[in-house]
Amino acid sequence: MAELNKVRVRFAPSPTGGLHLGGVRTVLYNYLFARQHNGRFILRIEDTDQSRYVPGAEEYIFNCLKWVGLEPDESVIHGGSFGPYRQSERKALYRQYAEQLVKEGYAYYAFDTPAELEEMRSRYKTDQNPSPQYDHTVRSAMRNSLAMSESEVQKLLAENARHVIRIKMPEAETVRFTDMIRGEVSFNTAVVDDKVLLKADGMPTYHLAVVVDDHLMEISHVFRGEEWLPSAPVHILLWRYLFGAEAMPQWAHLPLILGPNGKLSKRDGAKYGFPVFAMNWTDPATGELTEGFKEKGFLPEAFINLLALLGWNDGSEQEIFSKDELVEKFSLERVHSGGAKFDYEKAKWFNHEWIKKLQVSGLREQVKQVLGNSGIRVTDEQLLDNVLALVKERCTLLTDFAEQAGFFFKAPGKYDMDAVKPKWNETKQAFFLKLLQAYNPKDSWKPDELETLFKEMVTAQKIKVGELMLPLRIMLVGGKFGPGVFQIAGLLGKEETVLRIRKFLDLLQ
Ligand code: GLU
Repeated sequence: MAELNKVRVRFAPSPTGGLHLGGVRTVLYNYLFARQHNGRFILRIEDTDQSRYVPGAEEYIFNCLKWVGLEPDESVIHGGSFGPYRQSERKALYRQYAEQLVKEGYAYYAFDTPAELEEMRSRYKTDQNPSPQYDHTVRSAMRNSLAMSESEVQKLLAENARHVIRIKMPEAETVRFTDMIRGEVSFNTAVVDDKVLLKADGMPTYHLAVVVDDHLMEISHVFRGEEWLPSAPVHILLWRYLFGAEAMPQWAHLPLILGPNGKLSKRDGAKYGFPVFAMNWTDPATGELTEGFKEKGFLPEAFINLLALLGWNDGSEQEIFSKDELVEKFSLERVHSGGAKFDYEKAKWFNHEWIKKLQVSGLREQVKQVLGNSGIRVTDEQLLDNVLALVKERCTLLTDFAEQAGFFFKAPGKYDMDAVKPKWNETKQAFFLKLLQAYNPKDSWKPDELETLFKEMVTAQKIKVGELMLPLRIMLVGGKFGPGVFQIAGLLGKEETVLRIRKFLDLLQ
């Protein structure tokens, strides 16, 4: 793609809850496009609907972006010269645009009370039209500046009568635009209602605010979810009326992310046991916690990677992409318009690949946290590095390190006794006592030496190696898991290995 002039893109969340997969994917595509074109990525908080405002949601959004490493260049936190970046702080700015639209005949004052609106809905309700809209078919019968006399309207305005400003949708016009993903898209204005642009409290609605701010913030390209496509005709007309069609940004409506039964919902997550939010989100109203990818044990690298592929591929078989590679290879031409199916097993596969791919240094801090959560404090950094190198292939999620790495730092608190006890006998007891004796004078403590010694001693006993290796594993690990048992003993060191064997033998007595 040719280098574009001044690419400025934005993510414009409403602080109404946690960020889910789809939201972060919108962030990602914005971010990749901005980086690709040496552009700027802006985060604008769209909080004009105060009734839907949820405390904590804004902070949550910033924390998420920090976790995934997709931070904006301009925002409430990051600053920038196009602020304020929170719409509620821009309130004073919007009215003039709404008034301009009224003056030019593209919008009108509407004085209808909630009761009058209700009355209209029941009056026009039919089987074919169960929820009538405020549109060209009813507007002349309502209390607005199109239906009332000029003097009546002026009188009401002078009295400060409660009113909103509505867009006057053309009765029968086809509004077209070229979506960067979908190509030609067209809408018939006859079926679109006269949306409120400015509310009675002077706050703009989303429709007015989004257009005014995309203009004032010099946004060049808009990436947003497909759920916003029905609003596009309103936005396109507003652009045309206020700033001219040529000034309009280019649009890209991203495909829906689908769950097992259509559009991915929070309920799918609860039902099928996978997270839908980027991070844990507790709804302050209900106190209900919804699990997030971070806490579930996903790496940010894997999360970004799997999101990138929900709707895009580079045309090859390649599936693992780093953020830098995505910046290099991402292209809108290869984003498809059909819904993208989210598969949790595949998401885990991505994470496993990333755990394998990352150096130990890229896992250290996160694993320390996982271990910390199960009460294990790591003091020996060198041991941690060795353990990580040994067990990381076995971990699909970061949380798996609690089991796979924890026992290196803390002796097992409980044992899988069923794996040992039924087959335990005098010979085995004697074998392990002899093993302890053999360990006693040893100075060097290497896994292959330990293995050779163990196997030689077993041969002399005429017992199958496995019959004795499993109990050794249970003694050191607590259960039937983990890497090679002599690798484990090697890392635990002589003293700790001896201690654990002895403790277990005592327990069996
Ligand atoms: N505030 C809208 C949202 O919550 C923004 C939609 C858009 O990007 O235009 O997603």
